[in-house]
Amino acid sequence: MASEPISLRGVILSSGEFKDKDRIITFLSSEAGVINVCVKGSGKQGSKLLSATIPFMVCDIVVSMTGNYYYLKEFSIVYSNSEILNSLEAMTCAAHIGKLLSTSYIDDTNSKVMYELCVYTYYALSKDPEDHKLIYSAFNWRFLYLLGYCILYTHCNSCSGEFDSSAYLSYSTGEAHCVDCYGKGRTFEDMMLMSSAGIKALNHFIESDIKKLFMVKVDDNTLKMLSLFTTRCLDIQLEGTYDSYLELMRDLDV
Ligand SMILES: [Zn+2]
Repeated sequence: MASEPISLRGVILSSGEFKDKDRIITFLSSEAGVINVCVKGSGKQGSKLLSATIPFMVCDIVVSMTGNYYYLKEFSIVYSNSEILNSLEAMTCAAHIGKLLSTSYIDDTNSKVMYELCVYTYYALSKDPEDHKLIYSAFNWRFLYLLGYCILYTHCNSCSGEFDSSAYLSYSTGEAHCVDCYGKGRTFEDMMLMSSAGIKALNHFIESDIKKLFMVKVDDNTLKMLSLFTTRCLDIQLEGTYDSYLELMRDLDV
């Protein structure tokens, strides 16, 4: 027997085929976190529900539960974020974000902030798809921060001196070492040299009001370092492989 209908506002993180004529969407909302919803018959030609399976949209849905599965009953688009689909880079970035959100631990305590981060990030990507490099690293860092994997960089962990220039940052422990202390009697194999502009940007991604998260000017070389660093941190901290966007950048040679 189906449960009482549940109304949710949320974001479609991804969409995939299910059986012959159905699709499954992965849906993030502040109330329910991440759920998988079966969209019956959406694979049939001319199905009205086909538009309910386009990723990265914010929408209102009504679902009911039968057995262990949610089924889509009603659907309306709040914000389509359709410009994301016109840029391969923005789309790959959005899919990377969808993968992170659907495979990480999201529960009652963080679903609201994760939903908010996702909505602002997809909106920014749709509005300015060419800003994908900044949006990519900003999302990665804020996301890791919300999961408790990174902190502000203010002092060298070795000499306690304040940072005023570039420093070595660890992928795995959150440690940071100034250039003078780096390597003194110890080896730091999991560290990367980050410019002071890069360190400032990382701190901004943690401290900023969500509405101003992407309002920071960073030069192209720093953006490249940030995308390398934040991706490596994701891989190590979350024990996964999250390099689809970096691979695309490598293929495009940018
Ligand atoms: Zn130091």
